[in-house]
Amino acid sequence: MTIAENLDKILSEIPSSVRLVAVTKKKPVTAIKEAYHYGIRDFAESRVQEAILKQEELQDHKDICWHFIGHIQTNKAKKILENFHWIHSVDSLKLAEHLDKLAAKTSIYPHVCLQVKLLPDPNKYGWEVMEFWQDLPKLEPLKHLKIEGLMTILPLGLSENECLETFEKTKELATKINEKSSLQLKELSMGMSNDYLLAVEKGATMIRLGSIIFGARN
Ligand SMILES: *Cc1c(COP(=O)(O)O)cnc(C)c1O
Repeated sequence: MTIAENLDKILSEIPSSVRLVAVTKKKPVTAIKEAYHYGIRDFAESRVQEAILKQEELQDHKDICWHFIGHIQTNKAKKILENFHWIHSVDSLKLAEHLDKLAAKTSIYPHVCLQVKLLPDPNKYGWEVMEFWQDLPKLEPLKHLKIEGLMTILPLGLSENECLETFEKTKELATKINEKSSLQLKELSMGMSNDYLLAVEKGATMIRLGSIIFGARN
């Protein structure tokens, strides 16, 4: 199957309101161009250096919207702010506060999702629910970040029902945050190649798909 055929299939399965973000980590610029020519404009990377090299090669593709989805070390935050429109992987108060300061200084105001874990998972970054409620009062005043949604990555090995339940809980958490704080979270960045149909069923607004579009990564 070609990239275009894969995209045809995926787009036929999801409502047009769901934003398909093509994850191109470890994939060459030629693959990005192929998806671009198909009509995809949202691309995600998880490593800064790799992303910036590709972005330089794609400078004339000015309407690409770049999404950052990897864990962020403080010393890389400025580069990410300068080179990405969306940051899905804001996973701690310390990082959020650091990004807010940088945003104020540079006058670049990124679209942000807060990464949460509805199930404990030592292999993933992000807030657990209890910690999140503790930090929320300190997140609300970060006015230089456009905090627009939640992002989640499910632990490996869940059953279909457990996936559905966990996506549902993510959505419920966003609803509760909107009721109880000044944040207004409209976006749910959830769903990857293995579980995006379940995520869409539970209200995902952005799905992050890599291998199902571009093939397995080595
Ligand atoms: C790699 C990655 C994806 C895409 O994963 P696939 O299973 O290839 O679709 C999505 N989100 C994040 C955060 C990733 O790191």
